[in-house]
Formats: sequence, structure tokens, C-alpha cells
Amino acid sequence: MATVVGKGRQSLPCIVCGRLLLNVEGAVNQPYNGTSFTTCGHYGSTVFDPMDSRKRLVINVCDPCLLEAAQQRLVLMKTEVHQPPPELETVIWVPEKEEEDETQASPAAEAGNQSTR
Ligand SMILES: [Zn+2]
Repeated sequence: MATVVGKGRQSLPCIVCGRLLLNVEGAVNQPYNGTSFTTCGHYGSTVFDPMDSRKRLVINVCDPCLLEAAQQRLVLMKTEVHQPPPELETVIWVPEKEEEDETQASPAAEAGNQSTR
């Protein structure tokens, strides 16, 4: 069986500086003074893009390294935005006329065309 890292007193260390991080008591890899990041893969990665959505990679970054990266504008923040549901507009349907073949145009249409010349 694989060794569980991040369980017990020690969480995974910071992936940037290697600082040791302590776990919140009773948690598995939930560091004090740090943040745990999880990815289920990324299209475009040449090293981790599993087709098995059950697999994840997890890394920790200590708070000082995260703040330093944010100050260098290297961190994105995403916020879920809930849009209002679309509403339906109701109007009377007027079918579009099929384009008439010019060789069989009706006399009324021709008269209309002549009056605009
Ligand atoms: Zn760090």
C-alpha cells in the first residue's frame, strides 16, 4: 500500500520554498499558514492530463510564497458568476417568404418593381 503523505502532524511542504507546513489537527494535508491546490489535469499539459477524472494532483504553497506570487501578479482568482435565467420573448410567427425565381416572377411583383424605378 502507498504511503500517505500529508497525514498526521506534517502536511506536504511548500512546493515553492520547501518550508515544512503543519496540518490542521486531525486533517489530511490541510496546512496551517498555507493553501492546498488540487487539479484534475489540464488539457495542454504534457505531464498530467488523465482521462480518469477520479485522479487529482495536490500541491501546497505556504502563505508567504502565495503572497509574493500575488504581488508579482502571478495568481488568478476566479469567481463563479450566476447569470439570471434567459427569458423567452413571445411574438407572432410570420414565415419568411421563399425567394421567387426571377423567371417566374408574378406580374404584381414586376409592377411593384417598375413603380420604384
Ligand atoms: Zn513557500
